[in-house]
Amino acid sequence: MADKRDYYEVLEVPKTASDEEIKSAFRKKAKQYHPDLHPDDKDAEAKFKEVNEAYEVLSNPDKRSKYDQFGHAAFDPAAGGSYSGGFSGFGGGSPFSGFGGFGDIFGDFFGGGSTRANPNGPQRGESIRQSMTISFEEAAFGCKKDVQYRREINCKECGGTGAAPGSQPQTCPTCGGRGSVTRVQNTILGAMQTTVPCSACGGTGKIIKEPCKACNGNGRTRTYQKLEVNIPAGIDDGQTIRKSGGGDEGAHGGPAGDLLLTIRVKPHKRFVRDGADIHQNIEIPVTTAMLGGTINVPTLENDAKLTIPEGTPSQKTFRMKGAGIKKLNSQEKGDMYVNVTVGIPKKLTEKERELVVKLAEEMGDGGAQKTKPKKKGLFK
Ligand SMILES: [Zn+2]
Ligand SMILES: [Zn+2]
Repeated sequence: MADKRDYYEVLEVPKTASDEEIKSAFRKKAKQYHPDLHPDDKDAEAKFKEVNEAYEVLSNPDKRSKYDQFGHAAFDPAAGGSYSGGFSGFGGGSPFSGFGGFGDIFGDFFGGGSTRANPNGPQRGESIRQSMTISFEEAAFGCKKDVQYRREINCKECGGTGAAPGSQPQTCPTCGGRGSVTRVQNTILGAMQTTVPCSACGGTGKIIKEPCKACNGNGRTRTYQKLEVNIPAGIDDGQTIRKSGGGDEGAHGGPAGDLLLTIRVKPHKRFVRDGADIHQNIEIPVTTAMLGGTINVPTLENDAKLTIPEGTPSQKTFRMKGAGIKKLNSQEKGDMYVNVTVGIPKKLTEKERELVVKLAEEMGDGGAQKTKPKKKGLFK
């Protein structure tokens, strides 16, 4: 993450760029590094990914403002720690996995931290963050996926008490079950009162004489969980699905946390996605560009026909309405944008050359003489 380039730098736009400017910079860059134009070029592929990633963030007002505030750390799962205290109580459905230094602040707001009022009261389970990579098509059409992960549950052997079956945990005599003790110290500023976790019971408020063997007295165990998740059609890279109750089980009768599944969408070898729209480059023969004609255009479902009008210049973009991706939670579909490049043959047969020379003469193109081969047979 450390050597990631600034997203504005990647798209070569100022920090003040408008949405339109960002969009047009993205199109230009995506076109420049499109894998179709650089087959087997790892460098171009990396650039292409970088451009996509930068656009994904800067085109979304919410993500852009997070990025402006926190930089790459806003999206780095390693920066904030996925299990920062009390995060599970935050119900915003935010797709951001890292909050930089915010973990502690949320901890204060939502009752995380080590000195809870009642260590044996109901506690909500932590939410669990996972990510899953799906194909471009799976994102476009939706899919069902199994997600496997580890979650913490209450020990089945002891029912979560931590005490061996047949025995009961005892209330800690040192703290009276509160889990914390208050000390008063006399200092030059007067009496200072501090509350610290009880060392006799480790802050749990209970003493377990005979620990449950299955969970070593913790009352909790970790287990593999397999869940089927419905991924809706139209989901985009970086969006998060919340599976309510899929996180860690709550302790002492508290509710379970959620599973937050962030979807990563693999880039397509041909299509570039921009929200619900798809962009692609297609090379057309120079003769089709000049005379007009019909070309086959790959779409997500099958090939479609596109009429190329007579005299089409290179880099002209055609819109195919409704041939894009279904919009999330809507029946509407985006469009397909086809950017045509006129293919100029690198080599001509002798016959072709004669015809092109004739055409050039007919069209009054004096340049034809200059490009005539000096040596015969060079173009065979
Ligand atoms: Zn147990
Ligand atoms: Zn205690």
